[in-house]
Amino acid sequence: MTHTPSTPPEDSLLGPVALKPGLDWSALDHVDTWIFDLDNTLYAAGSRLFDQVHRRMTAFIMESFSLDREAALTLQRDYFRAHGSTLRGLMLRHGLDPHDYLNYVHDIDVSVLPPAPELGAAIDRLPGRKLVFTAGSTAHADRILTRMGIVDRFEAIFDIVAADFVPKPAPEVYDLFCSRYGVDAATAVLFEDSARNLAPAAALGMRTVWINTGEPFSLLGSKGDHIDWVSPDLSLWLEAYLAHLDTAEQDGSAR
Ligand SMILES: [Mg+2]
Repeated sequence: MTHTPSTPPEDSLLGPVALKPGLDWSALDHVDTWIFDLDNTLYAAGSRLFDQVHRRMTAFIMESFSLDREAALTLQRDYFRAHGSTLRGLMLRHGLDPHDYLNYVHDIDVSVLPPAPELGAAIDRLPGRKLVFTAGSTAHADRILTRMGIVDRFEAIFDIVAADFVPKPAPEVYDLFCSRYGVDAATAVLFEDSARNLAPAAALGMRTVWINTGEPFSLLGSKGDHIDWVSPDLSLWLEAYLAHLDTAEQDGSAR
């Protein structure tokens, strides 16, 4: 299936869709590194878990600056737009200690997430290394992945501290990630719910999978040719790809 990359295709919220003319699963035959965003990618946006983080961000700003909710939300949004993350804005403009902020905003109830043994099994079948690339903290990622029962699937978690608090999609963070783990972008795939965060990955030569949650933040930056596949949910994409691997194995043409 092909799609002119101007707007998300109508069926991008139904199942995995390849967005480029001629693109098929064989484009992944050479892939040996699978990179996953955490929030709203490894766990589904439908859990509303990230809403808890978002509300904690607002509460942190309300308390820190004695603002009402409306003013805090405005500041939160403005800093996100201007600096790539609310945290980055707070650090640059107010000298905020990022660790205080991260501990506060990640103090959430992860019990809303169900254990995810099927997702773990699907990730197991991907041939090669698996890494997490998150704008949250390692403690946050570790807590969530432990709750889901999949934390041991990943070789490492590259977090916002490792990124020196510079959020995706700053290109230098992708360079740092690749050099830290010896990742060859030409043999890697990035899964992300934020479409704009896929652009630097594609520029480096990675394959890209956009998890389109249908939310404004997910859709931001979805125009362009930096997206290879789109799927409403990581599990659906993996199911489709693993079905392809099954077929290839039966045909004797397995990788
Ligand atoms: Mg995300």
